[in-house]
Amino acid sequence: MSVPTICALSTPYGRGGIAVIRISGPRAVEITSKIFVSKQPLENADSHTVTFGRVVHEGGTVDQALVSLFRGPGSFTGEDVCEINCHGGMVIVNKIIDILIENGCTMAEPGEFTKRAFLNGKLSLTEAEAVKDVIDARTDGALWAAVNRLEGGLTGPVVSMREKLLKLLAAVQVASDFPDEDAEDFGGEDMAGRLKEIYSELEALKNTARRGEALREGISCAICGLPNTGKSSLLNALYEREKAIVTDIAGTTRDVVEAWIDLEGVPVRLGDTAGIRESADTVEKIGVKMSLDYIRQADICLFVTEAGRGLVPEEEELLAGIKCPVIKIANKTDLSPDGREDFIKISAACGVGTDEVKKEIIRLLGLGAPAGAVIANRRQLQAVIRAMEAVGRALSSVEAGFYSDLAAIDIRAAVEALGEAEGLSVDDETVNKIFEEFCLGK
Ligand code: GDP
Repeated sequence: MSVPTICALSTPYGRGGIAVIRISGPRAVEITSKIFVSKQPLENADSHTVTFGRVVHEGGTVDQALVSLFRGPGSFTGEDVCEINCHGGMVIVNKIIDILIENGCTMAEPGEFTKRAFLNGKLSLTEAEAVKDVIDARTDGALWAAVNRLEGGLTGPVVSMREKLLKLLAAVQVASDFPDEDAEDFGGEDMAGRLKEIYSELEALKNTARRGEALREGISCAICGLPNTGKSSLLNALYEREKAIVTDIAGTTRDVVEAWIDLEGVPVRLGDTAGIRESADTVEKIGVKMSLDYIRQADICLFVTEAGRGLVPEEEELLAGIKCPVIKIANKTDLSPDGREDFIKISAACGVGTDEVKKEIIRLLGLGAPAGAVIANRRQLQAVIRAMEAVGRALSSVEAGFYSDLAAIDIRAAVEALGEAEGLSVDDETVNKIFEEFCLGK
C-alpha cells in the first residue's frame, strides 16, 4: 500500500494574518498543483522555492497564496512537502483543506509530520520529542534546553556512549572466542576503567532529569502561613507586579491566586493560598480547605511568618503538616529584626530579600543549570537508568574476573537501552504514544 499524502493546518486555529497548511507525501506536489494555479507551474519548481498563485476550486479563486516547496528527502518529513501560505481566516483554511482532501489528501493525525520525519530518519526520537518541547516552552531556559536537544545535544552524548560500549563489547567477545590470547591485544585494556567512565557519564546525565522535567512541566510553589503575615505581598514581590490583593484585613485571599515566574529558566507557578486559620465564615473555610489541598500537591512551600516573634501553635501545626521541601521566611523585617538562623529574612513590602528566596527555591530543589545536555522526559530517563544498571553489572563481572560472557550480556543490554533512548529500537506502541501528544499539524 502506498504511503498516504497528508495535510493539516500547521499554524494555530483562529483568525490571523496568514495560515500555513502543510501537505506531505508522495503526491504532495501533484495534489497541490491540481488546486493551485501559478505562472510557473508548481510541478516544475525547484526545491526550497516559493511560488505565488491562486488556490482554485470549480473554476473560481478561493484565495491568493504562496506555496513553499520542499522536495524529499531534503524536507522536514523527508517526503515531498508543500506549504500553502494562505490568508488566516478559518473559512478559507477549512475550504482549502476540504479541497485537498477532495483531491486525494488524507487529514494528518496529531504529530504525524514529525512522526514521518522520525520514521524517515530525519530526526532521532529525542530530537522529535524536542520539537514538541520547543513549541511548549514557557521560559527562555526551557526553550534553550529544547533547542539544544533538537540540535542533537542529547543525541550526541548518547550515541558516543553507545559507540564506546560497542567497542568494549567487541573486545569482550574476542576475549571470549580466543581465551588464550591477551584481551589487551583486542582493545580490552583497562576494561573496568572504561566501564567506570561510562557509568559516571550516564550518572551525570541521569542527574539532569530533575531539571529537565522542571523545565518542561514547571514546578508548583505554595505560599502559606497565617493570615496577614504578608503572603500576597510576597507573591507580588516575586512576580514583580501587583497580582494578589494586599490589605490589612485578615482573610482577603480565598481562591488560590497563581502567577508564573521564571527562575533561572525554570517555570515556577507560585500559588498565594488563603491564610490558614479557624473561621466561622463559610467562604473562608472553603478557601482554607483549598489551600491545604494546594499545599499537599505543591513541589515546594514558602512558609511565611512575621519577624521578631516566635511561631504560634497554629503555625507549628501547619509547618509540621507540610510534606514537601519548605523554605521558612520571616517577613516584615523593616518593622523588627529577626535572629532565627533557619529563616530567610525579608521585607516583602520593601522588596528586600526576595532574590534570596528565589535562589533558595532553585537550590533546595536541586535545579541548578548543568553545563550540557538535559534529559527531558521519563522515557529517556528510564532508558538511561537501565543502561546505567547494566553497565554497573558488567563492571561487577569484570572486577570479579568474569571477563567475557557475563559482561557481554550486560554490555549488550546497555547498548540496547541507549538505543531505546535514541529511538533506535523502540516498539511501535511507544512511538505512537509519543507522537499522539503532539498538536495537529506538527
Ligand atoms: P497575607 O494575608 O498573608 O496575604 O498578607 P498581605 O500581603 O495581604 O499583607 C498583610 C498586611 O501586612 C498588609 O497591610 C501589608 O501591607 C502588610 N505587609 C506585608 N508585607 C510587609 C512588610 O514586609 N513590611 C510591612 N511593614 N508590612 C507588610
